[in-house]
Amino acid sequence: SLEVRNLGMAYGTLEVLKGVDLSVKPGSVTCVIGPSGSGKSTLLRCLNRLVEPKSGDVLLDGDSILFMKPERLRRRVGMVFQHFNLFPDHTALENVALSLRKIKGLPTAEAERLAMARLADAGLASRAHHRPGGLSGGQQQRVAIARALAMEPEVILFDEVTSALDPELVKGVLNLMADLGQRGMTMVVVTHEMGFARRVADQVVFMDEGRVVEAGPPDTIFDNPQSPRLKRFLAEVL
Ligand code: ATP
Ligand code: MG
Repeated sequence: SLEVRNLGMAYGTLEVLKGVDLSVKPGSVTCVIGPSGSGKSTLLRCLNRLVEPKSGDVLLDGDSILFMKPERLRRRVGMVFQHFNLFPDHTALENVALSLRKIKGLPTAEAERLAMARLADAGLASRAHHRPGGLSGGQQQRVAIARALAMEPEVILFDEVTSALDPELVKGVLNLMADLGQRGMTMVVVTHEMGFARRVADQVVFMDEGRVVEAGPPDTIFDNPQSPRLKRFLAEVL
């Protein structure tokens, strides 16, 4: 499980997270929604220490992440970004296998065998030998997800992974993520896709101005919002 306790973070004097509490159960999908600048990406980045929190704590299976080596933490908590961050000069297979070799220290043959299996899971077996430039944006994003999964993380963080995609490519990526959720992957998903949040999330978290304003099951958040700020936000996005 992932327990976020009174988390604070600032960029210089700009306070971006102001005491965030969050509880993510093993095997659950948490969707984080909220207006631009509310601190969603910063929250995710704190969870695998791409940025260092200023106060509070994050417990991963009971252990504070603040005392873990960042490399070790990032094996346990994977992340997928809006821009896929694939190596352009390597094939899809090599992109996945490289991480397995470098981060997990696997020999090449074993890394490639596992990489192929993860690509096949993502419906990309036939694209394995193409470079990112020869793949659609949706396929590239699925390679990035396969790469994150290959590390066998305990939790995967997704930061608006469909925002840069053409509309017709969004569905394939969301379906892959929904599958992962169904298969019991613990996921924290920052998204503007309210349909996905409603359909897939166990918990929806609404952030505004660095705070969690409301959190609960999707039915409650979308059909029975309590706070005026969430009501206003939903009126704008739905
Ligand atoms: P969006 O929906 O637009 O992605 P967000 O909810 O992810 O927004 P964050 O990216 O976490 O918001 O940003 C929160 C605040 O921190 C914003 O005011 C932003 O301008 C500021 N911020 C983000 N990254 C940095 C940075 N590297 N340096 C300084 N300020 C930053
Ligand atoms: Mg963001």
